[in-house]
Amino acid sequence: MSKTIIISNRLPVQLQISDGGLSAIPSVGGLATGMKSVHSGSESLWIGWSGLTDEDIPDGLSETIDSALKQHGCSKVKLTKDDVDGFYFGFSNRTVWPLFHYFLEYSEFELDFWNSYKAVNQKFADAILEEAGDDDIIWVHDYQLMLVPQMVKEKRPNATIGFFLHIPFPSYEIFRTLPWREEVLEGLLGADLIGFHTYDYERHFLSSVRRLLGLDVSFNDIYLENRVIKVDSFPMGIDYNKFHEAAKKSSALKGKQRSDLQIKLDEHKKSAPDTKLIVSIDRLDYSKGIAKRINAFEYFLNKYPEYKEKVRLIILAVPSRSNVPQYMLLKREIDELVGRINGELSTVNWTPIWYFYRSLPFENLIDLYTSSDIAWLTPLRDGMNLVAKEYVATRTDKTGVLILSEMAGSAYEMNEALLINPNNFEEQADTLKQAITMPKEEQMARNMFLQNRLKRYNVEVWANEFMNSLKSQKQGIGTYV
Ligand code: UDP
Repeated sequence: MSKTIIISNRLPVQLQISDGGLSAIPSVGGLATGMKSVHSGSESLWIGWSGLTDEDIPDGLSETIDSALKQHGCSKVKLTKDDVDGFYFGFSNRTVWPLFHYFLEYSEFELDFWNSYKAVNQKFADAILEEAGDDDIIWVHDYQLMLVPQMVKEKRPNATIGFFLHIPFPSYEIFRTLPWREEVLEGLLGADLIGFHTYDYERHFLSSVRRLLGLDVSFNDIYLENRVIKVDSFPMGIDYNKFHEAAKKSSALKGKQRSDLQIKLDEHKKSAPDTKLIVSIDRLDYSKGIAKRINAFEYFLNKYPEYKEKVRLIILAVPSRSNVPQYMLLKREIDELVGRINGELSTVNWTPIWYFYRSLPFENLIDLYTSSDIAWLTPLRDGMNLVAKEYVATRTDKTGVLILSEMAGSAYEMNEALLINPNNFEEQADTLKQAITMPKEEQMARNMFLQNRLKRYNVEVWANEFMNSLKSQKQGIGTYV
C-alpha cells in the first residue's frame, strides 16, 4: 500500500522542553487543520524541522523527541544552528521572501546562503528518501524547500511528487534577477504537480519556465522528455466552521464569562457607541504594508476631519523574524509612526491608534474580529492573506466591512470586499469613508456572498482538491508521454 508523505519546513507540532520533561503539542494553524484528512492514519507521515536545533537538544533527548513526534505521525529533520541561520533566516527569508514579494531592493544574493539552502534541502530530501517507497505520494510545501522535488525525483523516479507554493510567484522580470534561477526552477520541476494560490502566480511560473529553460509549455502542462508536469491554482481556504462557531460561542458569553479583552472592548463600545472600530492584523512584515496603512490613516483623518474621535484603528502586529535587519528597522518605523500620530492627534477622550506588538490567543483574535466594524488589510504583496477570510467568517450577523488590498491573493476570490490599491491614499481615504457609512443591508449582502464562498471552499476542500489532482497524475492521466 502506498504511503502519503507531507514535508514542510516546520512540523505541525510544538515541542517544549521543561523541567517536567518533553511535551509535543499539535499546532492549530491553518495548514495543519487543512491537512487533517490527508495526514491521518498509519499510512501517512509528516517530515519537517522540530523547531529545535541540534545544539538546543540536550544529550540523550533526541530519541525521546522522536518517539513523541511519532505519536503525531511526524518525523524530524535534524538541523544545526548554522543550517537554520543560512537556509531559513538567510536564503529563505533574506533572498526568496523579499524577491517573491517584489522587494527586489531587500533581496540579498549571498553565495553562502545559497549553499546552505542547497545543503539543507538535501537534508530534507534525504529524510524523505529514508522513508519513501517507489509508489508513495509526496507533498512538499513552500518556498523553503523548492529544490526538494528534484532531489527526490532523481532517486525515486516513480514516486508521485506534489509541490505547493504558499507565497506569490513573481513575474519573470523579477524572478530572472535571481542568480540561481535555473536551479530553483529545475528543483521545482522534480514535481508532477505544482500548485499556486492564484492563476497569475501560475502564469508567472510558466512564463519563467518557458523563457529561462526553453521548455515546451502548453496551457498548464510543461513537457519534459519523459513526462508532463501539471501546473494549477488551488486558492487556500480557512477552517470556516471553526471561526464561525467560535464567534457564535463568544457572542453568547455573558458577564464575567467574557474575556478581559472582550470586556474592555464592550466598555469602549458602550462609552462611545458611534465610534467605529477598524482592525488590522498581520505579522510585522514589510510585505504587509503596515507603515503605509498608518500613513494612509493619517491622510484619511486630515482629508475627513469630521471622523476624528469617531474612528479608532486597532493594529495587531505579530512579532516575526525579529533577528532579520529589515524587520528590526520596520519595527522601529512603526513604533515611531504610531507614537507621532497618537502624539499629534490624541485628545483627552480619544487615541486614534491602539497598537499591540504581540501575538494573541485564538479567543482574543475572535474578540477583535467580532468587535470591529471594519477590517482594513493593505498588503503590498501577499500570497493569500487568510486574515481577510477569517474576519468575514466571524461576522455571524453578516455585518462588517472588509477593505482589502488588490495585491493579496485572497482579493481574487473576494470581489464583494472593498478592494483598494495600498499605494493610493486618496482611494483609501474615500474607501474608509464608504466603509464607515455603508448601510447595514449592503454590508450583509456583500458578506452573504463572501461567506457562502468561504464555507464551500474551506481549507479541507483545498487540501483534498490538491491531493485528488496529484493522485490523478499518479494514475498516469496525461502524465507520461
Ligand atoms: N494569527 C495568529 N495569532 C495572532 C494573529 C494572527 O495565529 O496573534 C494567525 C491568523 O489567524 C492567520 C495567520 O496568523 O491565520 C496569518 O495568516 P495570513 O495568511 O494572513 O498571513 P501570513 O502570516 O501567513 O503571511
